[in-house]
Amino acid sequence: MYEELLSTTVKELKPSGIRKFFDLANTKEGVISLGVGEPDFATPWSICESAIYSIKTKKTHYTANAGLLPLRQEICKYLKRNFSLDYDPQTNCIVTVGGSEAIDIALRTIINPGDEVILLQPCYVAYEPTVLLAGGVPVFIELKSENEFKLTAQMLENAITDKTKAIILNFPSNPTGGVMTYEDYIPLIPIIKKHQLVVLSDEIYAELSYDEKHCSPANFDEIKDLVILVSGFSKAFAMTGWRLGYVMANETFTKQMLKVHQYIIMSAPTAAQFGAIEGLKHGQKYVDEMVEQYKLRRNFIVNGFNKIGLPTHLPHGAFYIFPCIKSTGLTSLEFCEKLLDEQNVACVPGSAFGEAGEGFIRVSYAYSIEEIKAALEKIEIFMRKFQ
Ligand code: PMP
Repeated sequence: MYEELLSTTVKELKPSGIRKFFDLANTKEGVISLGVGEPDFATPWSICESAIYSIKTKKTHYTANAGLLPLRQEICKYLKRNFSLDYDPQTNCIVTVGGSEAIDIALRTIINPGDEVILLQPCYVAYEPTVLLAGGVPVFIELKSENEFKLTAQMLENAITDKTKAIILNFPSNPTGGVMTYEDYIPLIPIIKKHQLVVLSDEIYAELSYDEKHCSPANFDEIKDLVILVSGFSKAFAMTGWRLGYVMANETFTKQMLKVHQYIIMSAPTAAQFGAIEGLKHGQKYVDEMVEQYKLRRNFIVNGFNKIGLPTHLPHGAFYIFPCIKSTGLTSLEFCEKLLDEQNVACVPGSAFGEAGEGFIRVSYAYSIEEIKAALEKIEIFMRKFQ
């Protein structure tokens, strides 16, 4: 009835393919879900205690717009220690409401109407809508499974036009688990530099790199000032509900992003910020333990899917596998609907991550080995009719 009062851009946004599918899954009893993209671990208790203590001692007000300075200092130390990245807490860092807000304020800060932003499909569901909401034009590069879902120089060159402003990278990737190594980045760096592309690098899964040390495009001095690095506490510290992330960039970008953040958010949740300081200072052992568990699960689930006859490459990061279901002759949506209907197992259709995800499903292993085992048994039964 009030349709004509709505923003056309918002009206035309497609609802998330993950949500659409989970509304279906939620209507059923006893579903084993391998669908959700969040850690099954509880937030380490010392983080919770520090947050509780901050409330008990009445630290219940706004913080500085950019976040508590001690938190920004710890973030910078953490990035230096773990990823060899140099940032200044006063001029390069803003604490945000999750990586989600960081992506939004970064895009709003750099995009002018009509600017093209390159997205690598299959990709995280929020990128296309946030580019559109910022007035940008998404341009897609299709990543290939035979290439382990990596970006090559040729692919990048082909996608650049005189309107290209930025590219969003997300390695380790949701949904494919793909990573880019230092060597993989080398041929891309001169292209990024030549075209002065802003690189919005979403590294929310950086800690969940199982086989090689994580590499950031910001590790390359030649382009470091073009990189806007997004990360947060949701995945590595199992803190999805706390809504805390951060964005790191050169001073010019940070100054402008801070205005957007200040007017729409004011400051990130205060208790969460106190919890995060504790996590960064003393929580590495918990992160390491969780990463160890994810690695065991990854090996187990990849093995399981390949045995069942659904070819799955070994992803080197994040907590997702991306099995190919083409042999069944079903679309990814049909596959997931039938699997849910017949075996009560929920996965996410690859098409939810863009057309390039068709023929695949996303399976999360942020679940216990017991749950993964139970799901695998059911998927095996489901697959029998295709043999
Ligand atoms: N980026 C990616 C790739 C994600 O998978 C997610 C969460 N699913 C986010 C960003 C946002 O995370 P948060 O806002 O909880 O930090």
